Amino acid sequence: MIPVAEPELGNEELNNVIAAFKSGWISSKGAFIPQFEKKFARYCGVRHGVSTFNGTAALHLALTALGIGPGDEVIVPSLTFIATANAVAYCGAKPVMVDVHPDYWCIDPQRIEEAITPRTKALIPVHLYGHPCDMDAIMAIARRHRLLVVEDAAEAHGAECRGRKVGSFGQVSCFSFYGNKIITTGEGGICITGNKRLADTMRCLRDHGMSTARRYWHTVVGFNYRMTNLQAAVGVAQLEKIDAFIEKKRAIARAYRNALRTLSEAGSVRLHPEMDWARCVYWMYSILVEQKLGMSRDRVMAVLGKKKIESRPFFYPLHIQPPYRNGTRFPVAERLSKKGICLPSSVSLDEKTIIRIASFIGN
Ligand SMILES: *Cc1c(COP(=O)(O)O)cnc(C)c1O
Repeated sequence: MIPVAEPELGNEELNNVIAAFKSGWISSKGAFIPQFEKKFARYCGVRHGVSTFNGTAALHLALTALGIGPGDEVIVPSLTFIATANAVAYCGAKPVMVDVHPDYWCIDPQRIEEAITPRTKALIPVHLYGHPCDMDAIMAIARRHRLLVVEDAAEAHGAECRGRKVGSFGQVSCFSFYGNKIITTGEGGICITGNKRLADTMRCLRDHGMSTARRYWHTVVGFNYRMTNLQAAVGVAQLEKIDAFIEKKRAIARAYRNALRTLSEAGSVRLHPEMDWARCVYWMYSILVEQKLGMSRDRVMAVLGKKKIESRPFFYPLHIQPPYRNGTRFPVAERLSKKGICLPSSVSLDEKTIIRIASFIGN
């Protein structure tokens, strides 16, 4: 089976894990953790990094540190992985959904303002499938309405909006290092921020709310959301390769674009977008199956499956899923969700395989 995304792990990761193991520091103390936090934050152009045991914990930690709680509303795109909304719900706040942009699939800035109420406290733009949100438009709205911004960059490490890396716009930005993400630590996540006080608050909350000055003195109800040194050991090695991974993802996108050119010119499929202001990292190369293909999205997936090629449907929009269903409709998110497929996008994929995968689409 050709998977949609498998991690690319080498001797560098293995050697770091062995070093961490031999040091005896296998829990959440150890030298790889601060090293990983500093390097990842610097990679994004931000000063502080607070690692967590997964990306969902990072989102919850960020929102908690920003004081999001019961009675607050937080704006999220309807088309995202459910963890974005769940993190809001964990705070006792309400995720308020907004439709996405038809051209690049991320939250539509033009739809954000209509969803703002006096209870709105924050926005969570999600850089979906590797494409950045229009952060300039979003930050302008946030400033105008005095809203906090938490970027969910779990799928877009290294993506850029008008030459600036995602993760460097919001008050806090969150990343995931799950096994299929651009870089991985097995499970893992991080919050990055330019604000030292916020970073300190997140460090405290991550460690049971314990005072850094006084052991076993707890100032707030915190969590155990710490990353382990073993995870960070993998992360440090992965971070050395991140630019090479992204170049490879972009080469995979070029190969799919070439292989699917005829279908795309005929209007039978729509290719993964890259707006002229964006640098997309194509976390999972994705296409939309249009009516003209004469083969339904689910049929395309079944055909690929028979050839032992894994593919994934787009996420179901939040607003149709049981925890968040509320009668509202978001036509763009619904349309994309029905048409979208994520295709194999592992860094190890070669062009010949991509041409072969593309040859089954529509045939
Ligand atoms: C993967 C992902 C997350 C959650 O990350 P985990 O590390 O799996 O908890 C959150 N948001 C988005 C958009 C994701 O793709």
